[in-house]
Amino acid sequence: MQILITGGAGFIGSHLCDRFIADKHKVICVDNFITGVEANIAHLIGRPAFRLIRHDITKPLEISDSLDYVLHFASPASPIDYLKYPIQTLKVGSLGTLNALGIAKAKRAKFLLASTSEVYGDPQVHPQPETYWGHVNPVGPRGVYDEAKRCSEAFTMAYHREHGLDSRIVRIFNTYGPRMRMNDGRAIPAFITQALEAKPLTVFGDGSQTRSFCYIDDLIEGIVRLMAADFNDPVNLGNAEEWTIAQLAQAVLKLIQGSADALKFQPLPIDDPRQRRPDLAQAKSLLKWEPKVSLKEGLTSTVGWFRQQLPIAR
Ligand code: NAD
Ligand code: UDP
Repeated sequence: MQILITGGAGFIGSHLCDRFIADKHKVICVDNFITGVEANIAHLIGRPAFRLIRHDITKPLEISDSLDYVLHFASPASPIDYLKYPIQTLKVGSLGTLNALGIAKAKRAKFLLASTSEVYGDPQVHPQPETYWGHVNPVGPRGVYDEAKRCSEAFTMAYHREHGLDSRIVRIFNTYGPRMRMNDGRAIPAFITQALEAKPLTVFGDGSQTRSFCYIDDLIEGIVRLMAADFNDPVNLGNAEEWTIAQLAQAVLKLIQGSADALKFQPLPIDDPRQRRPDLAQAKSLLKWEPKVSLKEGLTSTVGWFRQQLPIAR
């Protein structure tokens, strides 16, 4: 197959490029590097199965090749990135999604939208099933990301209903692993970098808010299966083990053998969700999929990767 991935130089996008190339497909990566990193795809440059197009997907793009899949992953994704680029985040969720959908429609390709658990906002239903409509503050600082993704879901369903586009929507819950930027501000890269540098770990609020962390390999397998399934409604992918952020910090300290009291408590960001855990019943029955990598295993391999990066970054 010939597969176009927007945001293919990002954390998740670059792992998808690797997976599809390993599966003997051809990949076209479209990225403007607003938060992506050249190093994520450097090993693919020059390979006949891989092509990079430097392009901002909020602007129209002509593709001459035939395409089987279009996967739309372009978007700033970490809170500090989308707070820094609020307008680009809204544009890539709205105009960028429209352009990516237009390409898929023109090529009669299957389309996948990378959506997010943030569409549930600060959820009042726990765990979150796909049928929950969410609890989002549209005018808060996180609204630029949450509403952009809600808009992109609405666009995707409209293309499916009006044009018969064969579309998929994956609602991704906090995913981590090698190739996250150490300064992207998300909890796992922040804690690992701080622990490796023997600095206190910055826990926001009292650390009692919860998240559920999915290792990248599990997510990629779920996405590949979702593309092969015949299902157009949103599907949650993530890991259902729920941790408080204080527990996550302690787990990182234990792995990196820091001192257990090396936590620095800082104010909780505005609208930071109190709790988050995917209801995975639909993914399990539809895709015969469930996450396999425990937090300890995933953190161990991520720490190994960050250890290698630290001398390069500093
Ligand atoms: P990332 O920042 O590493 O990757 C995003 C990529 O998109 C980057 O390479 C960036 O340069 C590119 N990009 C952004 N705007 C663009 C534009 N206008 N044109 C072309 N390229 C553009 O983030 P990530 O964690 O890999 O997230 C990838 C996707 O998955 C995002 O859509 C994000 O919303 C979604 N997602 C991620 C998570 C997670 O836990 N990592 C959770 C939910 C959803
Ligand atoms: N967080 C934290 N310290 C950090 C970074 C994040 O305590 O240095 C908290 C953050 O407030 C949130 C949780 O960790 O409650 C997960 O944050 P992340 O940015 O990783 O993901 P998201 O908020 O998008 O789920």
